[in-house]
Amino acid sequence: MTGGAIAIKREIDASDQYLASKKLRCKMSDGPTLVFAVLQHLIVLTHISFHSQPLAVLVGKSEEKFFVHQPHISASSKYFEKAFSDDQNKVNDNTIKLPNASPKAFEIYLKWLYSGRFYIVADNDVAKDEKSETSSDAEWTKWGECYKLGALLQDVDFSDALVDMAIDKMTADVAYYVEIANIIYPHSAPRSRHRKFAVDLAMHLWDDDDFKELPKQDAPTEFLTDLLRCVGIKMRRDAIMVEDVDQYFEDLGEYDDPCKYHEHSRKKGLCHKEKRNFVFEQPA
Ligand SMILES: [Zn+2]
Repeated sequence: MTGGAIAIKREIDASDQYLASKKLRCKMSDGPTLVFAVLQHLIVLTHISFHSQPLAVLVGKSEEKFFVHQPHISASSKYFEKAFSDDQNKVNDNTIKLPNASPKAFEIYLKWLYSGRFYIVADNDVAKDEKSETSSDAEWTKWGECYKLGALLQDVDFSDALVDMAIDKMTADVAYYVEIANIIYPHSAPRSRHRKFAVDLAMHLWDDDDFKELPKQDAPTEFLTDLLRCVGIKMRRDAIMVEDVDQYFEDLGEYDDPCKYHEHSRKKGLCHKEKRNFVFEQPA
């Protein structure tokens, strides 16, 4: 296993039993096939058209080929919606190219599009370093590729769902991805709620070492500015509490606004959970 992002274990106590995964994350090798996808599609979207031909999408430098229903992907991705609504010559012969996207991330995206779940977990993702509290986790690397893809495709639902998945993973693993801001900041807007998520994570989860390592982390300047703003205000108002991490995650799941870190709520759009509530109502 190579190329895993560094995840750091956090301390827990016996009260952490609430950290059950919501099963948003599934094995990469599973997931909807095209036949299953069409059925799911029928159930979820009653306005399916049987007249639309599958669209071919060529992804990455290798031009790996994927098929998708154009109305379905256009309903979720502004990039595809625009490609079909104006004559940017992006579409030729019912084929569209995404040379700058990762094929692996696009496959995860397509399965999410048809199922609302992330088929992202592989057996060899995690390589533990027994001497320290860190592990190399390739699932976070894939998460990062997906987040970049979400920005490229301008799919707010997918990006919001990725944030939910990150919370789900961090609570289930009892570990955090310390450099998550390095992915979120370059691919989000200045007042994005996802940026707020990255700052809140640092505020609640970072320990002394994370702050000491900060100069080496290559963190985006805008993130450092936001973090300093948050730390400064909190420092002046009250002592910064660092021991309430478990409470933070518990509140996120139980009491907090479930759309606290969702971009759609800034744009007054529907939540991805409402659009795909079959995922959230049934067990996996
Ligand atoms: Zn929401």
